[in-house]
Amino acid sequence: MSLGCPKNLVDSEAMLGSLAGEGFELVSDHDEADAVIVNTCGFIEASKEESLEVINEAIERKEKGDLKRVIVAGCLVQRHRAKLLDWAPGIDAMIGVFDRDHIADAVLGPGPRKVGETREGSGPQAPYWIAANALVAARDRNLKTVGLTVKGDDGKGLGYYEDDSKRFRLTPRHWAYLRMSEGCNQNCAFCTIPSIRGKMRSKPPEVLVREARELLAEGCFELSLIGEDTTSYGRDIGYDGEGEGLAGVLRSLNDAGANSGGAWLRLMYAYPTRFTDEIIDAIAELDNVVKYVDMPLQHMSDRMLSAMKRNVTRKQQEELLYKLRERIPGLAIRTTFITGFPGETQEDHAGLLEFIEEFQFDMMGVFKFSSEDNTPAAAMDEDEGMHVPNEVKVEREAELMLAQQEIAFENAAYLAEQGAEFDVLIDAPGSEDKGASCAGEDAGGVRRAGTVSDGAGASSGGAWVISGGRCYHQAPEIDSVTYVQARERLSPGELVRCTIVDADGYDLIARPSAELEKRTSLTILH
Ligand code: SF4
Repeated sequence: MSLGCPKNLVDSEAMLGSLAGEGFELVSDHDEADAVIVNTCGFIEASKEESLEVINEAIERKEKGDLKRVIVAGCLVQRHRAKLLDWAPGIDAMIGVFDRDHIADAVLGPGPRKVGETREGSGPQAPYWIAANALVAARDRNLKTVGLTVKGDDGKGLGYYEDDSKRFRLTPRHWAYLRMSEGCNQNCAFCTIPSIRGKMRSKPPEVLVREARELLAEGCFELSLIGEDTTSYGRDIGYDGEGEGLAGVLRSLNDAGANSGGAWLRLMYAYPTRFTDEIIDAIAELDNVVKYVDMPLQHMSDRMLSAMKRNVTRKQQEELLYKLRERIPGLAIRTTFITGFPGETQEDHAGLLEFIEEFQFDMMGVFKFSSEDNTPAAAMDEDEGMHVPNEVKVEREAELMLAQQEIAFENAAYLAEQGAEFDVLIDAPGSEDKGASCAGEDAGGVRRAGTVSDGAGASSGGAWVISGGRCYHQAPEIDSVTYVQARERLSPGELVRCTIVDADGYDLIARPSAELEKRTSLTILH
């Protein structure tokens, strides 16, 4: 069971891939499994609770005899290794974030362990593989580490990366995550990631490109480029000269995409500092890099950005945002903000709200601040004068999201009004919707803006096949979607030129442009 973020999903895929390679049979039905692996998230308190719930459910099933082993992996293990067996006695083995190549040992293990059982040689603990950091993990694997560091920002980084090739993919065939790096060199005051995953370790560019080629050859069309801070890609391993770093690797990945007949390369988790002109030019120029940037900004108040230790000012963020829009036509920008960070005043909040209304992000998420042990923000939050009560956080979150909702709904409606055309990547196989009315036509077949009445809509009783898909400005799993109403069944992975004919809140409704054009030309011929 894979919990948490896309980075964790890639870990899950890699562990499943190595199990499959060792001859284990993977089953999707829990009732058929002998062993369950829970790949946990320990990022915030809520994710810890969710992980523990899933682990304890699995342990209960084992106690009933429905399961032989429960293996726990991932961030929660790395972060709370000492406490995890108290919280969930009955775990049979644990795997930290640097040791997933031991997953087969953990699954095979010495057999199921009863709660509190002591085993000769293994003590009362479940066996575990939890290296303290990447350097230790690299040494354990006899990799050369002399002269290399885990400082992450000195160009002498280990280059030690966990191999993501030969994954057993959990995403659909036509899209995948491509992990560029592990760990993070930023020191955001609220974040536990650097203490869990360590300093940044970029995959060497040739490894990244090879992995991208393999994914494209397997039938992937869309690759979401992920890491904790993709903007800083390469700095830790000295790949940050002219033509290198993120801009350099985007060019190489773009070539890989072109050689495979086209691709969507999507930049996620871009940190606002060090977003150079070279990176902007690369995104603007490269055909296979979609004009989309996910850039978590966290706040727009200088007080808050400074308290959060983001190393960036409001002015710098603003300048970058407007520059991106100006230099990359059609660019869609997604961001996330934190509300209720310790010390956030009504004025800070109002300033953020005002900026959201003014800039009009294409996509936006808001998180309520969660106080995490051993972070500077947790210490701030203990100060009563700085703590923002939960009800205030809830209120502010709702206000920010409501403002964004209005913007997003208006944008979606505008695209429909304009009859905007996009390539839509089909995600979900179509389902037949007999008698459903076709978006863009009302019951009487009256044509709405941007659509062409084809005379064969719902009013004539025809069946539409409705497929889920996405335009370039919609990232998988987190953004809105585009529903395509078509006469023909469309398959996942197909790229279909569509016209937006309606909007449903955040989502778009589209029809294949070819179907609309066909009807138009028939009318003209008649
Ligand atoms: S950039 Fe900040 S929030 Fe993101 S992983 Fe790094 S430390 Fe955490």
